[in-house]
Amino acid sequence: MAETVYVQKFEEFFTAKYKKELEKLAEFYPIKRSLNVDYKTLEEYDIELADELIQKPAEIIESAVEAVKNMSVVSSKEEPVVPHVRFFNLPNDYTLIIKNVNSSHLGKLISIEGVVTKITEVKPKLVNAVFECNHCGRIYTIPQEDTTGKIAEPSACSCERRSFSLMTEQSTFIDTQKLEVQEPLEKIRGGEISRKMSVIINDDLTNLIIPGDKLMITGTLTLKAPKFKTAVYDLFIDANHTMKLSKEFEDIELTEEEEKKIKDLSKDPKLYEKIVASVAPSIYGHSEIKEAIAMQLFGGTPHKVKSDGMKIRPDMHILLIGDPGCLVADERVALGNGAIAKIGEFGSEHLEKIDVDLLTGQGRKRDTATIFHAYRNQPVMEIITESGKSIKGTYNHPLLTVKNRERTWKRLDEMKAG
Ligand SMILES: [Zn+2]
Repeated sequence: MAETVYVQKFEEFFTAKYKKELEKLAEFYPIKRSLNVDYKTLEEYDIELADELIQKPAEIIESAVEAVKNMSVVSSKEEPVVPHVRFFNLPNDYTLIIKNVNSSHLGKLISIEGVVTKITEVKPKLVNAVFECNHCGRIYTIPQEDTTGKIAEPSACSCERRSFSLMTEQSTFIDTQKLEVQEPLEKIRGGEISRKMSVIINDDLTNLIIPGDKLMITGTLTLKAPKFKTAVYDLFIDANHTMKLSKEFEDIELTEEEEKKIKDLSKDPKLYEKIVASVAPSIYGHSEIKEAIAMQLFGGTPHKVKSDGMKIRPDMHILLIGDPGCLVADERVALGNGAIAKIGEFGSEHLEKIDVDLLTGQGRKRDTATIFHAYRNQPVMEIITESGKSIKGTYNHPLLTVKNRERTWKRLDEMKAG
């Protein structure tokens, strides 16, 4: 519940510090519908209110929204402006690394830095549920404030029955998306596992984030009810504000000095070796794997242009494959341009003619695969590595293995656990 005292405080604060931002927001409302408030500005203006925001964010944020409503800001279309109020730039004490988030932060406003590893589709979430009594037809509107995903129903109808139907047409929904973020690798020490955290974003924050984005997320640490009855709960962050920290390629501005360095490097006869060596420099050896990773960073040669000017996907740079043993047809291989393809897509008939460049794993030697070998009904085995990756192939398929810094090709049937 929004308390009058907080609503009043926010009205004063917004009038003093956010008049211009509100006017600008009104101009673009409802396309833009978030008022982003710098925590430091609030803290300077009213340190008590700022502290209350950290301690009980749900109530305080609601009060901030009420305050904007009371200020009767109208959009260019004469609609009342009722934006989300989103806060960023929390003090260091509440800007945490995921590892340090614990139950003492429950229900509080915190910020975490994370790299997005997964993101779901945008899904509608019920905000105001309209129920109809199945017996007398009375209508009830129940705001859905529970963040755990349970639907709040009317407790009982005035006809004393307790059977209701949800009327989706009359109910209101908000777009939500669930993210999984991981501790940025530079924040963890060697050997430590990078922790993960689920984050729920809503409305105008959705559809802007892609996996790989580095974000500063500010939100309320919330409990997620477990699917099965157990005393251990999962945590997630109900996000109030997200800010991208990673730069897009186009945003990178080169200094003259950097440009000169790049140009000098392009004339270096050892450039190729240097690029390969720059992949995971702290890891010893694995030069073939590093070469393959380096090649994946570059596309193939884009020389194929159709007569009508349409560009065709360039030839792939690499194909990691073993020979003469085989991977099964649905085993995926990494190609240049970051694409993943199934071997079965290259051919299906035994001794079919194909033309695929491949990396053999023997130093710089490269071969072109010209004939597709298909052996039906061979016994296959699957190997699952510690990281959960698996590979399926015939028993005699060689795998590059590393033992005591020595690289050897091993047949699948020679591999054993450990
Ligand atoms: Zn009823």
